[in-house]
Amino acid sequence: MADLFELAPAGIALLDDDGRFVDANGALCDLLGYRLDELIGRLDVEFLDPTDSGGGLVGGLTRSSGELLVPHRVLARSDGASVPCQVHAAASVRDDGGRSWLVTFHDITEQLARAMTLRYQATHDELTGLLNRRGFQDRLAELLPPDKPGSVAVLFCDLHNFKRVNDALGHEAGDELLSAVAERLLAGLPSRCEVARFYGDEFVILLRDLEGNHELDSFVNSIAELFRMTVPLRRRQVQVSASIGVKVVEDSGTDVVALLRSAESAMLDARVRGQARSGIDHDQLTLEQHLREAISRGELDLHYQPVIDNDDNVVIAEALLRWHHPDLGPLTPDVVLAVASRGGMLADLDTCVLRIALRESRSWKRRDGVPVKVAVNLSGLRPEQPGFADVVRSVIRETGAEPSDLVLEMVETVFAQLEPEQRQEMNDLVADGVQFAVDDFGTGYSSLSVLKELPTQIIKLDRMFVCGVGTDPDDLGIARAMTELARTLGRMCIAEGVETSTQHQLLRAVSVDAYQGYYFSRPIPPEEFRAYLAGG
Ligand code: C2E
Ligand code: CA
Ligand code: CA
Repeated sequence: MADLFELAPAGIALLDDDGRFVDANGALCDLLGYRLDELIGRLDVEFLDPTDSGGGLVGGLTRSSGELLVPHRVLARSDGASVPCQVHAAASVRDDGGRSWLVTFHDITEQLARAMTLRYQATHDELTGLLNRRGFQDRLAELLPPDKPGSVAVLFCDLHNFKRVNDALGHEAGDELLSAVAERLLAGLPSRCEVARFYGDEFVILLRDLEGNHELDSFVNSIAELFRMTVPLRRRQVQVSASIGVKVVEDSGTDVVALLRSAESAMLDARVRGQARSGIDHDQLTLEQHLREAISRGELDLHYQPVIDNDDNVVIAEALLRWHHPDLGPLTPDVVLAVASRGGMLADLDTCVLRIALRESRSWKRRDGVPVKVAVNLSGLRPEQPGFADVVRSVIRETGAEPSDLVLEMVETVFAQLEPEQRQEMNDLVADGVQFAVDDFGTGYSSLSVLKELPTQIIKLDRMFVCGVGTDPDDLGIARAMTELARTLGRMCIAEGVETSTQHQLLRAVSVDAYQGYYFSRPIPPEEFRAYLAGG
């Protein structure tokens, strides 16, 4: 029996009736980190951790009950570490009639850790570390019924665009997006909130200690703001936002499942209302597919708007995109560009427009035989991309146009960040005869030194400044300064958005080189533009 006592893998001790150690085996000495002689004679309570539930191991009322199983005591090791143990104590009566205690100790550190992991896994979302549906329902159930009606609210939030990200960029990108959202929520939510991810892109927020509807409104707004973010994914900037449905817990009769269901249906309502308002969000996927097909078949419409010089001749026509959607009808460029941008097809769109514009411009004839250039706006096709000049050249070649037929318009911010070799690509195109125009000049805050360095031949004065010419002396002053600048730098200056004869006269007086705007012509379809040219 003595050998068995020493061999047993569990810690075993013999205690007297006061709880003093009389003997202990090697396993217990190892467990506590003490030698046997350090244990003998000392009280059991001296080896308890401060976090233990208290009382001696064999003390108190239980002493008379003969046998006692305490599920979970916390002992303190000699090095200060705490050891959770399952402790078993049994009284035994000695020959002299006195009582001793036989106590076994099982270290349950690992068991507890495993149980905690299991519990964590059952209640948390693996991807984001947020609560999952079950964890959330548990927390919500603890708060029901609320101390005060209306003091607890559930927000059901569903991301816009998530399916699109998943489909277009892959599930890993989708997961990254969800993690980014979770991180932001964790960092930004006040401490009286719990947040969970249910399924896919559904995030659910629990708010307690609510002071009333007024506070709720501002809270919901701040949550919507938290969701509004831009996440860089696969070299793209993905815009995130969410539809939010709110359910306030009013009475004690509501159960967790019913609450969640009504918060979810509030979210769906919000979603439908939101779509009816924005239009663009409406079925983004199909819009995108349609646009992709239209681009690959070259089925985009261009309208042309003439640019008139000081001799009243058409020198350039700007190609402006019009897309006739089979169901939605004609769409303006800003809508088309937004769809293309979200679908990552801006460069394809630009190439397609370039091809159509160069092809259609070949049939343009001015009465005096002088060629009219075509101006194409570029937003996706950019000089900083490798192969930019090659794409432009190959479209010129393929359409049989001359490089000198072409003007490429870009906003100043595109030019501002170019490396020397990228600038060189532009210079090579310029040497071929292509011209570059800085579009919307004056709106991009680029420095004049940048402007000076750029291989651009044309500056287009933004219509924001033109529209005040004739009414606002400052605008005329700006127009004068801009043309002065253009002349100094040897650039041609075109005024955009000229709508009245007065504007035209005044701009002429400050030596603008050419004009574009409704005063001369709106953007018109290709046949009409040909007739406009032929009519002189
Ligand atoms: P933008 O390059 O500044 O084009 C001029 C815009 O001003 C056109 O709007 C034109 O219709 C409008 N406009 C012309 N004259 C007047 C006028 O007298 N008064 C007023 N109020 N507006 C005038 P649009 O066609 O809606 O195009 C908007 C923007 O969309 C363009 O601005 C351009 O940045 C972009 N865009 C248009 N077509 C294309 C394209 O094919 N490719 C790319 N990448 N962007 C395009
Ligand atoms: Ca333009
Ligand atoms: Ca412009």
